[in-house]
Amino acid sequence: MTGLPRDLVDSLFPADLAEPAELEERYPPRELPPAAEVTRFAPSPTGWLHIGGIFTASVNLDVARHSGGVYLLRVEDTDQARFEAESLSQFEMGFQYFGIQADEGGEGADATGRYGPYRQSARGDLYMAYVRDLMRRGLAYPCFETPEQAEARAARQKATGALPGYYGEWATWRDAPQDQVRTRLAAGDPYVVRFRSPGLSGHRVSFTDVIRGEITADDNRNDIVILKRSDSPLRLPTYHLAHVVDDHLMRVTLVIRGEEWVSSVPLHHQLFDALGFDRIRYAHVAPLMKQDGGSRRKLSKRKDPEASVGFYLEQGFPVEAVQYYLRGLANARLAEMPLGEALAEPLRLDEFGVAGPLLDMVKLDDISADFVASLSGEEILERVGSWADAHDAPLAAVVRAQRALALRALSVERGQGVASPRKDLRKWADFRAVYGYFFPEVFQPVTDAADPRFGGVSPDLVRALAKGFADGYLPPSPGVPWFDQVRALSASLGFAPSQKAYLRDPDAYPGSIADASGAIRVLITGTRKSPDLEAVCAALGTDEVLRRARAVG
Ligand code: GLU
Repeated sequence: MTGLPRDLVDSLFPADLAEPAELEERYPPRELPPAAEVTRFAPSPTGWLHIGGIFTASVNLDVARHSGGVYLLRVEDTDQARFEAESLSQFEMGFQYFGIQADEGGEGADATGRYGPYRQSARGDLYMAYVRDLMRRGLAYPCFETPEQAEARAARQKATGALPGYYGEWATWRDAPQDQVRTRLAAGDPYVVRFRSPGLSGHRVSFTDVIRGEITADDNRNDIVILKRSDSPLRLPTYHLAHVVDDHLMRVTLVIRGEEWVSSVPLHHQLFDALGFDRIRYAHVAPLMKQDGGSRRKLSKRKDPEASVGFYLEQGFPVEAVQYYLRGLANARLAEMPLGEALAEPLRLDEFGVAGPLLDMVKLDDISADFVASLSGEEILERVGSWADAHDAPLAAVVRAQRALALRALSVERGQGVASPRKDLRKWADFRAVYGYFFPEVFQPVTDAADPRFGGVSPDLVRALAKGFADGYLPPSPGVPWFDQVRALSASLGFAPSQKAYLRDPDAYPGSIADASGAIRVLITGTRKSPDLEAVCAALGTDEVLRRARAVG
């Protein structure tokens, strides 16, 4: 191994960088109980987080909490081109919505903390200290290969059937003569710093993944770039080096991350070893999948709206339902438990599947509807209000101003004494469509007697039904069979007393009681599908019922 002389290496770095030994002292091992795990979630900010990110973050949080450890959030923003400031606030909204509160690094946590900073772009000097250390020890070197040369190399490798990458005979700067390096540096030519990989082509290595067990893979042979080009405005390391340095200095004990990184473990182990760090345990979580026709593929933010965390916030999925569903996907045992128990039960990494679980929105809708059905009207209203504050301001104003009406509406076929409450809400965005008609501010009275919602009842009969209903209206009252007025009105206008009677002799009637009451339902609610009409009229109050019945012209 031919390292560059120390003075030459040092001339490439700021003089005031810390020495690795100082950093060991500055970031000492944590004082935690022996089984405590220090975990982290380390997203790169690009748009909304993927729902799989919430999944991985939740797993990290869960493992830290149940082991008495620490969960930290680290923002991996070394890729400046892809960095989006807006994305960070979207991340925060997502974490907040899903109740994923970091002990270190997150909003509300100590962002500069003992082991911070927690944003990679603020950790430049730490990375530089270790790049310098590796270069001083001949374990990293400057590489002046230009993008054109890299392209030509890749083309030659392809043409000759050689494996891609910077290694062996292709690694032209690995052992370049010192004077050549000096000349290029003196000329101010841009360079990257590459890691001198100890791996050889064809070598296999084994390691243990906490989820996947023993894995044997090709060793890394590639002299990967660890520090980006010297002419970049902000000289930052690549993910590989940054992750190793950060997880070591933050004293992380268990890296739970996406499966796409499993093939990088041999490289990461080489880096841990070269830097003199203890290796950290890894658990690679399989990605969430989507059924697409006959096949399964990864759930993709580009193709699937439900892949983006923003979707769950906008739609207002109840967090407990989503968490319960995701936990059940991770540990099938939890899907069999009641929600409250399943949320409190620790996740077990050894029960995670190696194949990616399917995210089935129909299943999630069902779980959500069941969950919402278990809430009281007050709880639903509270959540609808907070959701609407952010996503439907007019609705928020209405439900706040009309709290009593909203509670009456929500108590229809729900609440005390109702054996099977309505399962009409899966998410808060459904509220407007399902309950909006209760509110005069939201309901659009049906004014056209020929409206198709009247289901073929003639405009004249619609008008007659409306007038008769309004003129003789009897508000619901205990012990009085309210529907009798509809029955009497229907009969007086010639409708058959039952669907059966109507079908026996369709020419004798304009329709049946079902058509007549359906038309009245449309007048009152704007839809043919609503809960029990008497209960709806009770919730609305007489004045509003009459206003609606009289709106049709
Ligand atoms: N920034 C990486 C990503 O978003 C993090 C991977 C890791 O958790 O180490 O994929």
